Amino acid sequence: ATENKALITLFGATGDLAKRKLYTSLFKLYQKGYLADHFALLGTSRHEMSDEEFQEMVLNSIKDIPAKDGEAEEFSKHFFYCAHDVTKPEHYAKLKDRLAELDKQFGTEGNRLFYMSMAPQFFGTIAINIKKQGLLTDNGYNRLVIEKPFGRDFDSAKKLNDELSQTFEENQIFRIDHYLGKEMVQNIQALRFGNPVIEALWNNRYIDNIQVTLSEKLGVEERAGYYDNSGALRDMVQNHIMQVVAQLAMEEPVAFTDDDVRVEKIKALRSLRVYTPSQAAANFVRGQYGADGSQPDYRHEDGVDPESGTETFVAAKLMFDNYRWSGVPFYVRTGKKLADKFTRIDVVFKKPLIDIFANPNSGNEQALHSNVLTVFVEPKSGFALQLNAKHVGQGYTTEPVDLKFLQSDSAKKESPEPYERLFHDALEGNHTNFASWAEIAYAWKFVDVIRNLWDIEKPQFPNYTPGSMGPAAATELLARDGRKWVYDL
Ligand code: NAD
Repeated sequence: ATENKALITLFGATGDLAKRKLYTSLFKLYQKGYLADHFALLGTSRHEMSDEEFQEMVLNSIKDIPAKDGEAEEFSKHFFYCAHDVTKPEHYAKLKDRLAELDKQFGTEGNRLFYMSMAPQFFGTIAINIKKQGLLTDNGYNRLVIEKPFGRDFDSAKKLNDELSQTFEENQIFRIDHYLGKEMVQNIQALRFGNPVIEALWNNRYIDNIQVTLSEKLGVEERAGYYDNSGALRDMVQNHIMQVVAQLAMEEPVAFTDDDVRVEKIKALRSLRVYTPSQAAANFVRGQYGADGSQPDYRHEDGVDPESGTETFVAAKLMFDNYRWSGVPFYVRTGKKLADKFTRIDVVFKKPLIDIFANPNSGNEQALHSNVLTVFVEPKSGFALQLNAKHVGQGYTTEPVDLKFLQSDSAKKESPEPYERLFHDALEGNHTNFASWAEIAYAWKFVDVIRNLWDIEKPQFPNYTPGSMGPAAATELLARDGRKWVYDL
């Protein structure tokens, strides 16, 4: 591994995300040699804390990761702390001085990575102050890694982006969408562009429809306060689902570089049909989970408004108006308290134009099944291709069989977690697995139409039972097109 020389400034260093994901990811990069002597992290938040206390906190976060003797302690010596209120411009002077010292002490050569892991209302302020108070360097790189959510709608996202742009250029901004750090989401490109047998069929001549499901088994849990203000459309569809769909829909990039991939994703999202309000109403379904035995319905969860109209489920039909996809619906859905926790993509191919086996004279009534290519994103990782084969024995009937590849448990163990991968990419300056502003802007414009409608119209909630796959209308969304969800109960 090549060492990345970097000085990281982490805003929100005592937060949940930092403790659960960020320190562990950095430690794994350290163990692999991507971070070594020439790195340091300056953590900030409002709490007062000494460097030693902060190092203890970091050690505590990584305590479950197997390590060599002394390795964790050595790692923790790269962590420093500075109490700081991000809304107070004068506080940035302290950060500036500490950063200058640490840069010298660790030989980070002016490479600065600013990571915002805080409530999003602060993102703009921090970015503006980073520049105004002189935290940028001119001898190394200056990069910004920013957490979700990126805005609440197009207008707020644009405002945020304008604020960030006062300090950082687009190619210095790394917007986290952790779905892009998942092994099997990254694998979509290998599957498509590494396999002529797949890519040759990847169009409206052979594909009937594509289905993307991000299913969660749990309810809102501790995130009720945030979630009730957000809902499934903002929390899952605008970002994760749109990013997955863009990868499925995009054209082949000229090369597998971040710039080339970006161009194609943007182009794909640009051809996504933005619905009129009445089209949106017909092509989106929302849901909210009801009670289940002793478990309360969504509206009676702690921290949720008892009259909440927030959706915990969304299903939608997306259409791309371009040569490749004209006429092929992309059905997507996501929700909480569904039957199981998994993410999968089902590509349903068209049936043969003529089914020669269904000749009534042969007594064979059984019809051919559609070929389906499934990408299992999680918890299992792999692909399956459903084909029609002859049923063993006398006579001639066909039955669906699966060609299947699943990653082994040991391969899965070796696969870095999304945050480790994305941190590494940001340190290397690789944008492939981050969302660009143009992608985010198109996604918001698409989603805003239905959001505006749903904000006005009062929903009939709750409308689905925990443990199901959502409201009946989600089944109807496909049924009216003569289709059904591949994964169903
Ligand atoms: P958190 O509330 O646990 O932590 C927020 C941090 O910001 C704390 O360190 C707090 O001290 C600090 N802070 C708050 N106000 C401040 C101020 N005025 N000045 C200085 N510091 C201040 O939040 P979190 O769960 O760690 O989330 C951080 C970011 O990551 C958010 O953007 C969130 O949407 C995103 N995110 C979190 C998760 C998760 O699993 N927690 C997952 C995905 C994305």
